[in-house]
Amino acid sequence: MSRSSYSDLTIVRYGHPALREQAKPVRRLTDDVRALVERMVDLIRAARGLGLAANQVGVPRRVAVVEIDEQFVPLVDPEIVAASGSEPAEEGCLSLPRLYGTVPRPTRVVVRARDISGKRIKLTAEGMLARALCHEVDHLNAKLFTDRADRSTLYWLMGHTEEGDPLTQPTTLDDALKVFAAAPFSED
Ligand SMILES: [Zn+2]
Repeated sequence: MSRSSYSDLTIVRYGHPALREQAKPVRRLTDDVRALVERMVDLIRAARGLGLAANQVGVPRRVAVVEIDEQFVPLVDPEIVAASGSEPAEEGCLSLPRLYGTVPRPTRVVVRARDISGKRIKLTAEGMLARALCHEVDHLNAKLFTDRADRSTLYWLMGHTEEGDPLTQPTTLDDALKVFAAAPFSED
């Protein structure tokens, strides 16, 4: 892929083959990787997401971006080196828009990665950030939150009431996946 084509990348949806590909290690931090990260940061900011993995822009490389203290932090070749506890909480995914469900995740993780300059970094995270890191590393390993979700909790977010309360509709996993499979690459 030429560098200029990174600016054309968009967030892909369930049904795109890259979401089920094991992402390859980056190892060498080239200008291509930096261009990829730049585009991912633009996309996650526009989508108001908490995290994004390169698989989600159709590029199966081990790169993720997570929001930490209101900043989007790129993680290259991230690895969960320790995890403890388990807690169920609600999750969604930019590649499965409007679908939510309850997923058990570790309450605390330690992640090793490199930053965009190649420097080694180590993150100790709890709660929401630990959850986001697990979700993104799962993407790099071709896993989606629906693979781990309690199936009885899945629902579509249909919109909001005038008071701002969510309007939801329960769904089965099969029905939800059929909806995405019918239009895997379409935009809202
Ligand atoms: Zn996701």
